[in-house]
Amino acid sequence: MAATAMQFPMVIDGQRVESLSGERYEDRDPASDQVLALLPRANPADVDRAVEAATRAFNSKEWGGIAPAERGRLMLRLAQLIRANAEELARLESQDNGKPLRQARNDAQVAARYFEFYAGVADKIMGNTIPIGPGFLDYTIREPLGVSGHIVPWNYPIQITSRGVAPAVAAGNTCVVKPSSEAPLTAVRLGELAIDAGFPAGVINVVTGRGSEVGDYLVTHPGINQITFTGSVSTGQRVMELAARHVIPVQMELGGKSPNVVFADADLDLTVPAVANAIFQNAGQTCSAGSRLLVERRAHDEVVDRLRQRAQQMRLGPGIEDPDMGPMISRGQLQRVLEYIEIGKREGARVAVGGAQPDDPQLRRGYFIQPTVLDQARNEMRVAQDEIFGPVLTVIEFDDLEEAARIANQSEFGLVAGVWTRDINKALYLASRIKAGQVFVNTYGAGGGVELPFGGYKKSGFGREKGLEALAAYTQVKNVCVKFA
Ligand code: NAP
Repeated sequence: MAATAMQFPMVIDGQRVESLSGERYEDRDPASDQVLALLPRANPADVDRAVEAATRAFNSKEWGGIAPAERGRLMLRLAQLIRANAEELARLESQDNGKPLRQARNDAQVAARYFEFYAGVADKIMGNTIPIGPGFLDYTIREPLGVSGHIVPWNYPIQITSRGVAPAVAAGNTCVVKPSSEAPLTAVRLGELAIDAGFPAGVINVVTGRGSEVGDYLVTHPGINQITFTGSVSTGQRVMELAARHVIPVQMELGGKSPNVVFADADLDLTVPAVANAIFQNAGQTCSAGSRLLVERRAHDEVVDRLRQRAQQMRLGPGIEDPDMGPMISRGQLQRVLEYIEIGKREGARVAVGGAQPDDPQLRRGYFIQPTVLDQARNEMRVAQDEIFGPVLTVIEFDDLEEAARIANQSEFGLVAGVWTRDINKALYLASRIKAGQVFVNTYGAGGGVELPFGGYKKSGFGREKGLEALAAYTQVKNVCVKFA
């Protein structure tokens, strides 16, 4: 174990606490395989404490009884604290997840932005009056649901925690967050900053521990009124089944195999760097990664050649040294990606660049893999259908617009798509045909997109995060009908 392993608490009821059992678990640095931090290993009794605290807070004068504008002010204070501590948060995120420091810095700013955006919304969650005829007054109110459970993955911990918690508390809910045991540090710090910002005890609780040990218990807890889950399809299916037992709403943000469709008339100087970034950012561990490149046959050779050159120039290293690409999150994830590259080769795809762990002995202890392009793939191959969740771009050629639309939609996922062309007709036609929650034209991702509704079609999930759309997940509508003389 590294002598310098950090110690972190959990945050329950406005306090920094240990687990009731006193047990801790090791959180590893993916760049070195050393222990980075020790955290409380929560068990069901800790979940009970957190849900009870969140329930008390929901029913309290200090939270349930305050004006919406006051909730907004607390959120703005939290946003200011995130910005004031952004460098510390970024360094923690970079070490914990492995992502390059500049990406982690951006993630911290985006987290602050979520709290600012929804702070402005807190006092604007309005209902309607509905005209049903003389002698009636009918109106609706949007009320919070109660205790909102947030199950967060390891790939963008501070962003995804903030993405869910900010609209939840803006609407007046309280939260129990379960970050991934692989990268929990910034979620804990966010819980601590919420205390410093003056949030009443119990409004934002963070329970650390393994999903396999506390996940089911959290989802089936009778005190939980809603679940926001971000993660894999298989865990999401389990969460849905468990939530069905006590009939609570779930918001599902699952995986993707998003197509980036490049036509021969596209501006390749603009397109190729964006296509590379869409897959290699966060070492490909991004739900919305542009992991399928659909390229018009006439442009194929030039696009793949330019991608190869870019990939060869990328510098790998520990995130904290701010390389172009960091490691995979875990040894298991590294093995999974290596296996998929082998599967791709067996299926007949050709490795245009990468395809292996780097030779550099310095990187051998960490979970590094080269940025990889699998060329000459067909869409029915597993490497074109499965979410690999690593820096592996699968390249498929097409000849015309209809074929591009067909291939783009031949996927069980539908999270994001990119279209690259100078022809507005092609762009708008494809945007109308593609079955995905977000379509980008001549851009990809738009810098985090706090304001833009985000979520899946098909197995990519349901419900929308981000933007004003997210409020639907954290409110329930009450209709009041009054008959007067
Ligand atoms: P995962 O294995 O499904 O884990 C997600 C979360 O669920 C983690 O906090 C995990 O905790 C927890 N968990 C595990 N078992 C559980 C159980 N039985 N009950 C409740 N929670 C449980 O996914 P991942 O590998 O962390 O993340 C990668 C996946 O997330 C990819 O498929 C990616 O596409 C998807 N993702 C989607 C979005 C989106 O917005 N659509 C964003 C990011 C990632 P532990 O880690 O402690 O086990």
